[in-house]
Amino acid sequence: MQFKELRCIISMIFLVPVISCTKNGSADNGGGITTASISALACSSGSFSAPATVNIAYAATATVPYSGGNGVAYTSGTTIASTGVSGLTLTLQAGTLVTGTGNLSYTVSGTPASAGTASFAISFAGYNCTLSLPVNNGAPGLPPVYNKIYGATSITFDGTWVTIKTSDQPDHKSVYYPVANPLYEAFSGTTFGGGTFAKAPNTIASQNITLKIPVNPAMAGTHASTPMGVIGVALDGVPFFNQYAAGGSPLGAEMNGFDQWWGHPQMTGMYHYHVEPKYLTTVKATPFALMGFLLDGFPVYGPQEENGTAPAGLDVYHGHTHATADFPGGIYHYHFTASAPYINGNGFWGTPGTVIQ
Ligand SMILES: [Zn+2]
Ligand SMILES: [Zn+2]
Repeated sequence: MQFKELRCIISMIFLVPVISCTKNGSADNGGGITTASISALACSSGSFSAPATVNIAYAATATVPYSGGNGVAYTSGTTIASTGVSGLTLTLQAGTLVTGTGNLSYTVSGTPASAGTASFAISFAGYNCTLSLPVNNGAPGLPPVYNKIYGATSITFDGTWVTIKTSDQPDHKSVYYPVANPLYEAFSGTTFGGGTFAKAPNTIASQNITLKIPVNPAMAGTHASTPMGVIGVALDGVPFFNQYAAGGSPLGAEMNGFDQWWGHPQMTGMYHYHVEPKYLTTVKATPFALMGFLLDGFPVYGPQEENGTAPAGLDVYHGHTHATADFPGGIYHYHFTASAPYINGNGFWGTPGTVIQ
């Protein structure tokens, strides 16, 4: 009995040095220094690679200077959520400290939920500070509803026209992204028409689209028909197309090539929605939410009204007039529907602005 107890004690004595030896060895830089250390962290001198605007998707790099670096490598950090202005996250990227003064690099992403100051409480090698990012109100005088177009690369306003630029890179996954893109995903789910999915040969490519839409849309005397190509823009920066396939024929079997969020790219890689943008109606917003705007400046809503019912009394242009959460005074608006013409019928209700695509 005594002999067994003795063996147990011996093995515990050996266990402790074995663990600490492994720990030291894995981070040892050969000079006996094992842990990244600094002598100061200067959030007040930190900077961001891009300005942030309320309700517009943000992706940037933040740089925070340090001094007293000891030349040791460090791993990436955990995600830090913004406070003050919510909706952003910041993550330390792995790197190696220089000896002396250098910079830590962080990725920042998300969509700021309000204007003001987004604050990030960062911590490195025992030093803490608060990094601040100003979030702008957007273009001066721009009605806030346009800031809901979070996928735009820029939104400017001259008092009459809202100019929206987009690179048309949806923030949802798609079988049409190049396979190497992190947003590539094999098709799953159901096609818009319920048919068997059939992948088309095109691949999503970055675009340079500029839409100019009137801030005060008005009914046109003569209703222009919608062109082929871009007829409006969704909140995620993806263009709306009308209810026709190339050559003006009905969408038909083309619907079987829509991805799981019911969009697809045409031959130049321009991704677009002819029908309900399912990512917006089910993930980013609701079936009764604002989906975007057509070129005539009138808003587009999902397939339901706020009380959950199907929109009633849509005219031949596929819209009607009543108050919405975004336009409490009432406004003409289009609705997505499950059957043709899906988004717009015989043309624009108002006078369309312009698009460069
Ligand atoms: Zn199409
Ligand atoms: Zn309605």
